[in-house]
Amino acid sequence: MEQAAREAFAKWRGSADRVVIARAPGRVNLVGDHTDYNDGLVLPMILDRAVYVAARFSLDGAHHFWSENYREGVTYSPGQWPGVRPGHWASYIAGMIQELPPPGPIELLVMGDVPLGAGLSSSAALEMATGLALEALRGKSVPPLELAQIGQRVEHRYAGVKCGIMDQIVSRVGRTGHALFLDCHTLKWEHIPIQSEDIQFLVIDSRVRRQLATSKYNERRAECQKALEFMQASDAAITSLRYAGAHHVKEIKESVLQRRIRHVISENNRVEAACSTVIHSDWGTLGRIFSLSHESLQGDYEVSCEEMDFLAAHAELFPGVFGARMMGGGFGGCTINLARAGEGPAIAASVTAAYEDKYEQKPVAHIIGPGLEARRSYD
Ligand code: ADP
Ligand code: MG
Repeated sequence: MEQAAREAFAKWRGSADRVVIARAPGRVNLVGDHTDYNDGLVLPMILDRAVYVAARFSLDGAHHFWSENYREGVTYSPGQWPGVRPGHWASYIAGMIQELPPPGPIELLVMGDVPLGAGLSSSAALEMATGLALEALRGKSVPPLELAQIGQRVEHRYAGVKCGIMDQIVSRVGRTGHALFLDCHTLKWEHIPIQSEDIQFLVIDSRVRRQLATSKYNERRAECQKALEFMQASDAAITSLRYAGAHHVKEIKESVLQRRIRHVISENNRVEAACSTVIHSDWGTLGRIFSLSHESLQGDYEVSCEEMDFLAAHAELFPGVFGARMMGGGFGGCTINLARAGEGPAIAASVTAAYEDKYEQKPVAHIIGPGLEARRSYD
């Protein structure tokens, strides 16, 4: 795909001399949803799909961007802002440029095979790939954690999504054959090797995209803040829901907030347990953790939807499935399924057919291959 990006660039600008190519992967999250912005624990893993950026300096005084996926170009003058809405593909690139300004205007082409808006973090991959390319054009490297934080800021400021830090960190530092155990409070991580001979991870994209997802995400963040303020009234030392305990669930009167706290507590516990199951290749227990995570996201955090419940429940009918769960922000997107090695294709075919039968929409299944680490290469 690096070669394809180079060729597309040459086709676009006449040549690809002196381009820098950078890529950064999308991700799945094995477990730990809606914990990152509560200073909690997560266990993501990089995908075998990535966003690729080819870039070099421009000689005509203007920034030029081209998206191969959208077949659309954007041009604007340095120091200005391109006339695009927040969340438009060019806003992520312009946002990164705003944070890491190159010494002159640039030409930048983007292409990728991370499904867009499916909850596999194509946006973080785009930020990290753009960031890696900008590092090269600025002749100055940026520490990985700092680049991730810049990407997060770009989502907040220019895309209007108050995301946590997980997606950018795993896209930037995730390793092939490993999950990433990340503590979103200390921002320390550990690469956890996965002995995957006996298993397959399967992603099933419901193809459901709800407008409501962003507003509900921001609503959950506000509820967590409200729960935190309640806890702080009696315990000023508590800094986030990460440090909530069972007694807080009892003390808080509002049942909605009770359930939100309960999810964060139980999900953090599941991430810790999941880490040890990965280390010991205890797939049966990891599958059970997937199922419990789904139940909690559905019942306590209330971010699932009928289609995701169907996909997870149907997959779990198979003896070859250890567990399945909705993944990400919710209200659509993908499920992640843990299957016995070799059984992924049959499971994908059956779940896809049953879903299509019921919802008249064909989901897309993808068996995850070895992850593509973020990297940069030169002409
Ligand atoms: P997710 O991160 O789950 O894929 P988002 O809505 O956060 O969903 O981000 C998707 C957006 O990121 C796209 O709508 C687009 O603006 C941008 N994006 C991601 N990958 C690409 C790409 N290959 N080319 C252009 N824009 C991309
Ligand atoms: Mg995103």
